[in-house]
Amino acid sequence: MNDVQELVTRADEVAPEFAATSAAERRALLRGIADVMDAGADELVTIAGEETALPEARLRGELARTTWQLRKFGDAVVEGSYLEAVVDHADPSDVPPRPDLRRMLRPLGPVAMFAASNFPFAFSVAGGDTASALAAGCPVIVKAHSGHPRLSRRTAELVSAAVEAAGLPAGVFGLVEGFEQGLALVDAEPIEAVSFTGSVAGGRALLDRCTARPRPIPFFGELGSLNPVVVTAAADAARGDELAAGLAGSFQLGAGQFCTKPGLVLVPQGSRLIQELPAQVAEEEPTMLTERIAEGFATGRAAATAVDGVEVLAGGGGATAPTLLATDASVLLANAEVLLEEVFGPLTLLVRYADAAERESVLAELPGSLTATLHAEDSDDIDGLVDRLGRLAGRVLFAGWPTGVAVSWAQHHGGPWPATNTQHTSVGMTSIRRFLRPVAYQDAPERALPPELRDDNPLGIPRRVDGRLVPGA
Ligand code: NAP
Repeated sequence: MNDVQELVTRADEVAPEFAATSAAERRALLRGIADVMDAGADELVTIAGEETALPEARLRGELARTTWQLRKFGDAVVEGSYLEAVVDHADPSDVPPRPDLRRMLRPLGPVAMFAASNFPFAFSVAGGDTASALAAGCPVIVKAHSGHPRLSRRTAELVSAAVEAAGLPAGVFGLVEGFEQGLALVDAEPIEAVSFTGSVAGGRALLDRCTARPRPIPFFGELGSLNPVVVTAAADAARGDELAAGLAGSFQLGAGQFCTKPGLVLVPQGSRLIQELPAQVAEEEPTMLTERIAEGFATGRAAATAVDGVEVLAGGGGATAPTLLATDASVLLANAEVLLEEVFGPLTLLVRYADAAERESVLAELPGSLTATLHAEDSDDIDGLVDRLGRLAGRVLFAGWPTGVAVSWAQHHGGPWPATNTQHTSVGMTSIRRFLRPVAYQDAPERALPPELRDDNPLGIPRRVDGRLVPGA
């Protein structure tokens, strides 16, 4: 048996035991992981800094977000609404007559998780995917990202120590490294789902692999996103300078290596923003997270600047220099295949539109995104725009910039392809749904029912009973 098979077999063996743990036990595990990571913060941040070139303040902030997220998932599990428990008592007056039906969500089983490169804590070994899968009661095997191997190993050691301290079997958590091991993990029969954050090409290959298995399994991918921003003529006239400063900060943050970086900004002809922005583009060349990302940036930028009618307003010289491009809506529409490709890194494309009709014709061509942002004034008629942006993206912002992603119940970090390949979010409390599936029990005797579905509701969780929402105790 190789490492992957051994880990998967181990995870499969312990999956029923882990699924049967109480919410309080899983909360203790998640809190334990958060505690050991907080205690090891200095060491973890040092390793992360050496491997990713991200600044210490950013890494400390990301680690704090990661451990807070782990604790928050623990609380969500105890609160219990994530189970979507429903009790429909038998009703002979229903058409057709209804038997006693009770439904709730149950853990899927062992999950494979491909860690992201760009958030070495929050979307990596002990990040949101791992937290939500463990919260759901699923063993997790992480495929480490090749961009931060030492940090991945050290984080995995801490998670494994917390699993042991919680009195749980070691099979609840594992780590594999290497491209081929990642493929073997996806192919391993007991794996029930795969989660992924990365490129469209890599995600597509793994999605196809999940589907091609003898027993296909769900793939939850967070892939590419342009994150369009619309600035109305009124907003540009009222606060073009302020918007330029906000956009400058957002597209250069973390060297533009955010899935939520604003990559395409629709501005009116004669825009103030376009005049103010070039001076705010940094000259220093950032170190990118990995060689592969640096190469992808250079290739994407070269393709965009090679299009006739695309102007370089700032940057564009050095290999990773932050770059500001501009073009007209007509050029974008004639070269959509090239200009609507995400360029991962510090680059944004300003697209000038003549009027609302031309702006709409660009929006109609855009691929799905994680976010869409609108900067408008009270005097603007925005009804059609709001509807359009809601069809484009999973999160619509009416102020500010999309880069930050809060972890909360209402968060949605997903969107139409290629942002994601499913309707699920990969951030926030409802991301737990990815690792659960509904089971309905028909005419089950009380003793056969999970406590969450029994009449006396011993855990006091919120439920829908005979069509009415009943709050938790
Ligand atoms: P990536 O190249 O897609 O790699 C992500 C993970 O998937 C890595 O573990 C990689 O393994 C594995 N992988 C990639 N292609 C695969 C394939 N065909 N079959 C099996 N496994 C595969 O992403 P990345 O290294 O993070 O960054 C590259 C690009 O991804 C960026 O330039 C950007 O476009 C995009 N990206 C998007 C997001 C987002 O949030 N949407 C985040 C980060 C990056 P190895 O590392 O072992 O090769």
